[in-house]
Amino acid sequence: MTLLTTHSTTILRGQTLRFRDDPFAVAPDAAVEHHTDGAVAIAGGKIIAVGPAGDIIAAHPQATIETYPHHLIMAGFVDCHAHYPQTGIIASYGEQLLEWLNKYTFPEECKFGDPAYAERIASLFLDELLRNGTTTVCAYCTTHPGSADAFFTAAQARGMCVAAGKVMMDRHAPDALLDTAQRGYEESKALIARWHGVDRLAYAVTPRFAITSTPAQLEAAGTLWREHPTTLMQTHLSENLREIAWTRALYPDAPDYLGVYERYGLAGPGANFGHAIHLSPREFAALAETGSGISHCPTSNLFIGSGLFDMDAARGRRPPITAGLGTDVGGGSSFSMLATMKASYEICQLRGYSLHPAKAFWLATVGSAQVMRMDGSIGNLAPGHDADIAVLDLASTPLIAERTRRAADLWEVLFIQMILADDRAIAATYVGGVKVHSRDGAPLGGCCTNAG
Ligand SMILES: [Zn+2]
Repeated sequence: MTLLTTHSTTILRGQTLRFRDDPFAVAPDAAVEHHTDGAVAIAGGKIIAVGPAGDIIAAHPQATIETYPHHLIMAGFVDCHAHYPQTGIIASYGEQLLEWLNKYTFPEECKFGDPAYAERIASLFLDELLRNGTTTVCAYCTTHPGSADAFFTAAQARGMCVAAGKVMMDRHAPDALLDTAQRGYEESKALIARWHGVDRLAYAVTPRFAITSTPAQLEAAGTLWREHPTTLMQTHLSENLREIAWTRALYPDAPDYLGVYERYGLAGPGANFGHAIHLSPREFAALAETGSGISHCPTSNLFIGSGLFDMDAARGRRPPITAGLGTDVGGGSSFSMLATMKASYEICQLRGYSLHPAKAFWLATVGSAQVMRMDGSIGNLAPGHDADIAVLDLASTPLIAERTRRAADLWEVLFIQMILADDRAIAATYVGGVKVHSRDGAPLGGCCTNAG
């Protein structure tokens, strides 16, 4: 008989960053717990303790210790809006939203009727997320149910916590991509039965947006979500001015764009509205009152030329609107949440609002997890949370090293990362306590689980 010597507890030692409160509500220093020599203890795929390294190591004398001397250990990033089928058309030139969909997106999405192609792109997409320190995503698939099967299968194989849904779309797109109100409902329902709540997977009812769904399909989506209240709902809202005008023409009786979704029961906690750029005061108020969430996708908004998100209107109000950060790949121009934070900062600057790094890092982790109603288990370096962790090398390029040497405090260090760093800063990514990405080629599958 062979005895397997597996360590039940692993400790990651380095700077640790945990959010204790919302930096949009309290001062930055009051929002975090930061240890310059900190540690995270992991067992059974969960974070069991976070604190000063001396205390954590003394409390777990048998633990295996991995040391990250010049690094920041934080929660894995949560990307609350992305389209995995658009991975292959990221960086497509010259169009705004509606033309961009017709010219680049829809032809690409037609390819996802082929399960082998869907599987290949799903794997590429998820591996790219992990390389960028992103451990959870809320993803759109295509109208093909097989595209969702491929995505969930690939995420399950990586142990990841993700949400996704088959797009429901029954008009204003190529015939090959259209379902019907009835078929979209039935196919989505079957996918919920197959995947929702399995391992770390969640289903998101996914009508693409009001333009590509008939009233009958939005009605069916609302019915489906009501019948499965623990699923999420994701769609797009007020991204582009021509899109808004067309929506108003298609739904002349609605008070505004959000009003279309409200009419069909598609607002409320767990509703995830992508973009939400050009909103009326009534729409902002209704999002807050219904507890709906917003995915702010700044690289996409700049790249497609959609507009400037109003962070202060969304998060400066009381109560604030639930909000997180999305890459919106392939409308977005990067898989990196660091690049996404930078773009958000730049958009805010153009509106006369300076996005503090505490707020940016919070949006990219806790905020996005709140949009997905998963903040009790992911998005923070907190005891009891799943051990989904990103380890940032704070000196990943000579320039960043030089600039960081001059930093006065934690906030300047984090700001330098969000403005200058990219995937090269992600030294390691852990999912459920298992090391799934190592920039420098160290062995993967670290022994952070209790299995065996
Ligand atoms: Zn989108």
